[in-house]
Amino acid sequence: MKPTIETLNLFKLASGDEFFLQLYKFVGKRSNKKVYIQSNLHGSEIVGNAVITQLIDCLSTLKKSQIDGEIWLVPVCNPLGTNQRNHFFSSGRYNSYDGKDWNRIFWDYEKFCYDLDEFVQQNLKFDSLTIQENFLQQQRIAFSKQLEKINNPSSAPLFEQYRYQLQSLSMDANYVIDIHSSSNECIDYLFCFPGQQQESAKYFHIDYGILMDTYDGDAFDEAFMKPWLALENKFEKLGRKINIDRESWTLELGSGMKMDPESVNIGVNGIKNYLVKKEILKLENYSLIPQDITLVSRQNIRNYYAPTGGMIQNRLSLKTQVKAGDKLYEILSFNKQGNLPEIINVYAEKDGFIFDISTNYSVNQGDYVLALCSHDLS
Ligand SMILES: [Zn+2]
Repeated sequence: MKPTIETLNLFKLASGDEFFLQLYKFVGKRSNKKVYIQSNLHGSEIVGNAVITQLIDCLSTLKKSQIDGEIWLVPVCNPLGTNQRNHFFSSGRYNSYDGKDWNRIFWDYEKFCYDLDEFVQQNLKFDSLTIQENFLQQQRIAFSKQLEKINNPSSAPLFEQYRYQLQSLSMDANYVIDIHSSSNECIDYLFCFPGQQQESAKYFHIDYGILMDTYDGDAFDEAFMKPWLALENKFEKLGRKINIDRESWTLELGSGMKMDPESVNIGVNGIKNYLVKKEILKLENYSLIPQDITLVSRQNIRNYYAPTGGMIQNRLSLKTQVKAGDKLYEILSFNKQGNLPEIINVYAEKDGFIFDISTNYSVNQGDYVLALCSHDLS
């Protein structure tokens, strides 16, 4: 089946040029469930565009009867970020107008859902599905105030108008996948919320994940998931376990400004597996085997910042296993005191492996150099 394609107006620039989003929709034989996948929210993180393109190709070969539900895909979901440049660098992690991180701007209903206790009391008598429908309806009503604000003569800042567009496409989804990469050079991993998602994570066939045991960043995945987790917890406190059929993922596929074929493959195959597991895709003769994933806490990732300015040299490469006390890198440090340049060694504080490294080898004091994951790379 071919997707239906919708081009959605995003906003207009001073020059009169306009930005759009393009949405690719595959609607299967029933539309009882929805998957929403987007890529390139951060400007330099382009890898997901290749993943989505391959997914569109793959889904196009299927019959309508092989898709149970709807799959919505939005590549290049942030045209302003994608097109931003500084010399050779694609630097669009932050909106250059207001300095905000494009993935820390989203509307989080959990923060505005003041009557959650009342909602739970009123819904105790219903089944899980009805509770979710009612909760989504309540969330939509609150969200519609965002549009009212935008449409007022005083309107709203660009980031509010932008997030309204993405969240209005994704709010009613069951499963949300936001494809990123490092802005630097990194291994492939995913972010996973605690609970039922830890089981689903095994189907992405990615070796590593970061467990979101602490979070409150107004990121896209959080803004989607936090209201549902709050609802689930509230019911649980009253002794009722409800089955919330909602999951939210951020995939981090390799390095910034790159579409490494290996990372692209991991993304495409992982998402296909996941959609089969969730019974959205019905693929013949498709063997589905869960694969162990090592989920580490955010506290396991330690960023190393340059203790002084200079040039990075002899840095250990990505994935290198290190012991506490091993040399991680050197800083070639210059001075203006009439002395020769000197070499400063930087050592690992803990055992672990090199998780992420900066693209730029020139650092001011306090610039990011690398991240160490204090966990075995097994
Ligand atoms: Zn990102």
